Amino acid sequence: MDDPATKGERILNGIPASRGVCRGKLFILRPAVTTEVPRYGISTEEVDEHQRRLEHALVATRGQLLELQRRVSSALGAEESRIFDAQLLILEDPSLIEEVKRMTAADRINVEHAFSLVAQRFIEGFSAMEDGYLRERAADIRDVTGRVIHNLLSPEPPADLSDIREPCILVARDLTPSQTALLDRRKILGFATDQGSATSHSAILARALNLPAVTGLQDATQRVHGGQYALLDGFNGHLILHPTEQTLFQYGQLARKYRDLQERLQENRALPAVTLDGHQVVLSANIEGPEETPEVLGCGAEGVGLFRTEFLFLDRKHLPSEEEQYTAYRALAEALKPAPVIIRTLDLGGDKMLTTRDAPTEHNPFLGWRAIRICLQERDLFQAQLRAILRASVAGNIKMMYPMISGVDELNQANEVVEECKEQLRREGHPFQADLEIGAMIEIPSAAVAADLLAERCRFLSIGTNDLIQYSLAVDRMNPKIAHLYQPTHPAVLRFIKMTIDAAHRAGIWVGVCGEMAGDPALAPLLIGMGADELSVAPALLPSIKYVIRHLRFSEARELAEFALGSKNTAEISGRAQKLAESIAPEFFETTQ
Ligand code: PEP
Ligand code: MG
Repeated sequence: MDDPATKGERILNGIPASRGVCRGKLFILRPAVTTEVPRYGISTEEVDEHQRRLEHALVATRGQLLELQRRVSSALGAEESRIFDAQLLILEDPSLIEEVKRMTAADRINVEHAFSLVAQRFIEGFSAMEDGYLRERAADIRDVTGRVIHNLLSPEPPADLSDIREPCILVARDLTPSQTALLDRRKILGFATDQGSATSHSAILARALNLPAVTGLQDATQRVHGGQYALLDGFNGHLILHPTEQTLFQYGQLARKYRDLQERLQENRALPAVTLDGHQVVLSANIEGPEETPEVLGCGAEGVGLFRTEFLFLDRKHLPSEEEQYTAYRALAEALKPAPVIIRTLDLGGDKMLTTRDAPTEHNPFLGWRAIRICLQERDLFQAQLRAILRASVAGNIKMMYPMISGVDELNQANEVVEECKEQLRREGHPFQADLEIGAMIEIPSAAVAADLLAERCRFLSIGTNDLIQYSLAVDRMNPKIAHLYQPTHPAVLRFIKMTIDAAHRAGIWVGVCGEMAGDPALAPLLIGMGADELSVAPALLPSIKYVIRHLRFSEARELAEFALGSKNTAEISGRAQKLAESIAPEFFETTQ
């Protein structure tokens, strides 16, 4: 760890995940220790001491849980704070405690190892239970036993987001999408994580929240201290410890220029996204919840091109009912009508897991039980959402799309469930838009190759480049070690995109791009040149993309696309795209370096 006495400037390099600069004290969110529990033998004389340490850890854990319960109760109400009751009961479970003590004495192994073995057995036992309620308790056991192990191994209690008292830069090993969604905007100036990349969902949320963020810092949590003063550079991906006066001055200027630029971009707000030579592009917004309606209205979007509905489901005790979803979808559609709102059906899985269900641990979660695959198996979950979307469709201009479609079979199956829901609603007398437009996301190479078959059965296609890139190149979008291999301009990726666009146009339907590639000022012209009809980007990025479109000639975009599709070289393509963007909007690419 860096010596706190060393006041010299130090720069930690990561991946720029969300533009902007902030400075302030660091708050380190160290995870509760649940992995890498050491194992060692103990002597008979040491058994008592280990059992005493267990008692102390249980008491400490109980104290922490009661404190958390008190805070949640005053912030969210008594009902929400009851989730801790089950965890408190687990701490008193004699079968757990006695078994740990027995193992410590009989097998003479250290108490933390004995505890983790017994806890794991309990978690597996509960995960396998038939009864849904009991199965869900596995998550509580994992949580509370992780806390006990942390208390056995570390004198400091695990830090919690609710411990943040004053505005700070949050440094964490990783932030789950639900943690990111819950960040208190008033207390978080920006965040820096060891893990993640520019397209992990926490990075996407940082952009939605307009917070500077740097991911992929590898071991920053080990190298910094809470309370240290630092500067976070979301443009270049730096966390700068003890910045010098000179650095602060340079970044102060950059921040001011960035603010001025944002203000100037706002002047484009009400203008159409049309190129200098008259080519019109539909520019829509990506959102994670209906609370972002003011941002959609304020950024100059023509509608919502991607509503990631799974964020309504994360970090909750109970899943949202059909009624609750209906209210959310209807409110959004009403607020934006006649502008379109494309609701994406649930894309759970990958890095977005429910806290209400103890989902199976998977070796490859991004290749596993995810999105439409979950929905086609969990029919109740899917039907509740489809019914809510259909019912809300009369309130405005709603369209719907399915994530992670791999081919025609899945599309047909999903459409069958929609037909069943329509039939139910007809019988029940609920009005809905019978001709609701349904599209498919193209995120898997098989879908891009079969785009012609999908296009025949869809009203539109939307290319999810975040996943399409990760699956085409076999590069985990979350893994900072291979972030350099995550290449949007790889010729294979561009061919998949082009194939999809051409297939859609041949079938007479429109095609959008809603992955992060669309929000990159250097890559948006390439997508437009390849023929994308719509780009959908985070509201915070939308004014820059509109500016680029309004200062671009479609002929230049087409030349760039032609060059890219004829090139063998990823770097050459991105270099050419960058050059065009810099000639259009040099101020977007200014840095302190
Ligand atoms: C994508 O994959 O590009 C996409 C828009 O979906 P998500 O980022 O939510 O996986
Ligand atoms: Mg995706």
